[in-house]
Amino acid sequence: MADKAPASSSFDVSDRATEEGEDELLYGAESGWVEARTWCDHLASLCSDLIHIPAPDTPCNRCHHPSENWLCLCCKEVLCSRFVNKHMLQHYEQTSDCLALSFSDLSVWCFSCDSYIDAQVLPQLQPVYETAYILKFGEPPPIRNVELQNVAASSTGN
Ligand SMILES: [Zn+2]
Ligand SMILES: [Zn+2]
Ligand SMILES: [Zn+2]
Repeated sequence: MADKAPASSSFDVSDRATEEGEDELLYGAESGWVEARTWCDHLASLCSDLIHIPAPDTPCNRCHHPSENWLCLCCKEVLCSRFVNKHMLQHYEQTSDCLALSFSDLSVWCFSCDSYIDAQVLPQLQPVYETAYILKFGEPPPIRNVELQNVAASSTGN
């Protein structure tokens, strides 16, 4: 008697219809994305001028590592990641500047919260996210469907 593994899968995978909007949320939750916080208690330490920021290819201020550095959102220093020489991490430990934007994927990390912060939903972070995006890609970021219900309620104006 050979144990034959059932070759045919009877799972109806296509049953999960991809409805616009909801699909993105489901996908994000199920695929185990690192969750980004939509609030951070340390936004008061943000630099007041985050419109003028260094270019994404600015080398680390300390070791001159050329790419994938972090921008300190408190003093705008560009420092390398924990996978290079940990200069951003050291900067946080020395100064308690805790908010940094990754030039490699434009995510914002708060060292004090020990969490990613969703820059696209926080008004304090949206401008620097957009500026960094434009510097990196040469065009403004696509509009993400955030809080669609709330937006829809006030979408009568133009
Ligand atoms: Zn924080
Ligand atoms: Zn460095
Ligand atoms: Zn700093």
